[in-house]
Amino acid sequence: MLVTTPVMARRALARHAYLVDLGVYTAISPMQQFAGWWAPCPFCKWTMRAVPKGRHAADLLCEDLRHAKRGARFEMSLRDGPWWLDPAGAIRTAPELRPVEGHVALSYGLWQWIVLPGLLEIELKERAEEAGANVRLGPYGDSYDLQITKRGAVWRVDVKTWADPQGIAERMREDPDGCSGLIVAFPNTWADTPGSLRVCWAGTAPG
Ligand SMILES: [Zn+2]
Repeated sequence: MLVTTPVMARRALARHAYLVDLGVYTAISPMQQFAGWWAPCPFCKWTMRAVPKGRHAADLLCEDLRHAKRGARFEMSLRDGPWWLDPAGAIRTAPELRPVEGHVALSYGLWQWIVLPGLLEIELKERAEEAGANVRLGPYGDSYDLQITKRGAVWRVDVKTWADPQGIAERMREDPDGCSGLIVAFPNTWADTPGSLRVCWAGTAPG
């Protein structure tokens, strides 16, 4: 639920006692609102950053530069009374502006560490299922993210959304048994990032 609903109405939150107890949804950051309004990124649904341009206009763009590059950037301005959001990138349909009042959102840290990798895990799961595989998410707690099974072959996949191949390699070296056969998946938007990897194999690849 955190992954697919990074922002919600306060009234909706009240219906989920366990989420209220966790205290993970809080008021929308002042950096991600303008004139009392916010808008969700079309990709991750989280509140976009607002960069004011004077008092009557602001740029709204996703904190994830990969999303902003793919078109999650808009311009907010006053026109004939109400506020409008116009496309400033490849996505030509702007999301609806929503009032800050009455909405709560996940923190930056939760968005970065739970929402972004979580979206990629869900996407991988759906793609593998379309290809006829069986998929379990987080089968053994946190040891890895997806277990994909097809015709007797098993793939253990870990999804990474942060660009630290060095750190991942070091962790694998520290615990070679723990990552034997582990597949590490990265967003392919890193393809143009120098020094980043796309998929790396530790141990023997199945099939
Ligand atoms: Zn986004």
